[in-house]
Amino acid sequence: MFKKFTGIVLIVFTLSAVESAHAVESVDDATIIGINIVIQSLIGAIGAAIHGKSFFKGLRNGALGGAVIATGKFMVGRSYQLAWPSKLTVALGSSMVENTARGQELFSTLGFDVGPLYFSWQRVKTQYKFRTDFMIGPSVVLIKSMAETDRFDWEASLMTGTPVFLKDDLGENWAGLAYGNTIWLKTKYARHPTVLSHELIHTYQYSSYAAGGAVFIDLFGVNEVYRKLHLRVEEDVGNFLFAYPETQLMPYLERPHEREAYGLTDLR
Ligand SMILES: [Zn+2]
Repeated sequence: MFKKFTGIVLIVFTLSAVESAHAVESVDDATIIGINIVIQSLIGAIGAAIHGKSFFKGLRNGALGGAVIATGKFMVGRSYQLAWPSKLTVALGSSMVENTARGQELFSTLGFDVGPLYFSWQRVKTQYKFRTDFMIGPSVVLIKSMAETDRFDWEASLMTGTPVFLKDDLGENWAGLAYGNTIWLKTKYARHPTVLSHELIHTYQYSSYAAGGAVFIDLFGVNEVYRKLHLRVEEDVGNFLFAYPETQLMPYLERPHEREAYGLTDLR
């Protein structure tokens, strides 16, 4: 089961790139906040119920996490210079929902991803225990990025806490791509005011589905195996469930995740 599960994660992940470049009908701020809260509260509630905890407490805590996630997305929509605080805000909200969906206390584990690494602190009694896990999808993407792009953008990567790669020829239609939590920019758009913000929002969308993936992983009972090996697939599985289908079923301009990213930035 473990091998089969990991295989599916890998195949799907490498297919689910998200692009940006065209005009799209944007959505207003209230809708974006509302959708983030509704999705995360349902994930929190279902996860809590599966773990024998209160559905309604899960609903409430998931909603809180969803509001924190939305806040982080709004911050980076204003400016990519807010990338670190916004990234950590999204990570906090995502951790809150993941804890809820696993039947744990709201702040029991706090973590954030940087490329293929996931750093987390788990509260044990009065102390926090640190651990590092390797994220399967982003590891594959890192290798792919080194093979297929022209260079690594150190400045943008350090400024955003997100691996940013530059490629002169990204295809005629695209200014940038987000592969999970990794960004490719067309070189001439490397310092464009909103392309980077737009792609960062896609990486936050990726991070925000950890709880959705966690519910699924716990249902299959494979979480212990991954934890022992220090592997993490929560985000990959969550994105397979929540973001991948629209890339297969909907035209680019109509996809909810594009509408959110365009709605939060001024990119037109
Ligand atoms: Zn996009």
